[in-house]
Amino acid sequence: MIKDRIDDIREVISEIKGQAFEDSGVTLIAVSKNKTVDDIREAMEAGITDIGENKVQELCQKMDEIGDNLNYHMIGNLQSNKVKDIVGRVKLIHSVDRKSLVKEIEKRCKREGIVQDVLVQVNISKEDTKSGVYVEDLKELLDFIETKEHIKVRGLMTMAPYYDNPDDAAWVFAKLKEIFEDIKTMNYNNIEMEYLSMGMSHDYKIALENGANMIRVGSYIFGERVYN
Ligand SMILES: *Cc1c(COP(=O)(O)O)cnc(C)c1O
Repeated sequence: MIKDRIDDIREVISEIKGQAFEDSGVTLIAVSKNKTVDDIREAMEAGITDIGENKVQELCQKMDEIGDNLNYHMIGNLQSNKVKDIVGRVKLIHSVDRKSLVKEIEKRCKREGIVQDVLVQVNISKEDTKSGVYVEDLKELLDFIETKEHIKVRGLMTMAPYYDNPDDAAWVFAKLKEIFEDIKTMNYNNIEMEYLSMGMSHDYKIALENGANMIRVGSYIFGERVYN
């Protein structure tokens, strides 16, 4: 079941990118929030190498249990007081969107003598329920991050608003792709535009068509999440 879903997504990636999944350069992150370690192991058997979680405590429990044979992604809103629990342990923090968080990551990484890779989350649609820096404030945030030696920006992330017809989200993804290409032409020190993390179960196809090379898919792989 989980394996079938993962195979489906790989096929879609392959179709849209016109290459075998392995050569497509697309990272498929299986979002395992609210799912069990057994579910994750099943996904690993189907070839999943990267998982995403949106809560620090749940992420840490799963990292402790599963260990080093997976890449972990922090994709949710990150409170500054939780930064210390994940720096150096996750492959990417996708949700860097404010100076206070940058300062905290820098402080913790400096103390440990490590460099943390991050994505900057951009709120393209300005929905107030979504986090992320506004487009007009992005440059100032990047200038600030550029002064930090223990953080490396590897790309951008966004969440599109929910549209009944996912095609309607295309403008959001196209806009972030344009910004991504724009920043590529600037010569920042510790800022590279390599990963474009956009697209979830409902809209990942549209995201891929608009340039995503990292998608975060949860419920399509693992089934709907049940919250108590
Ligand atoms: C939950 C979540 C996802 C995955 O959502 P699905 O609709 O279950 O695919 C992707 N990105 C973020 C930031 C999330 O919190």
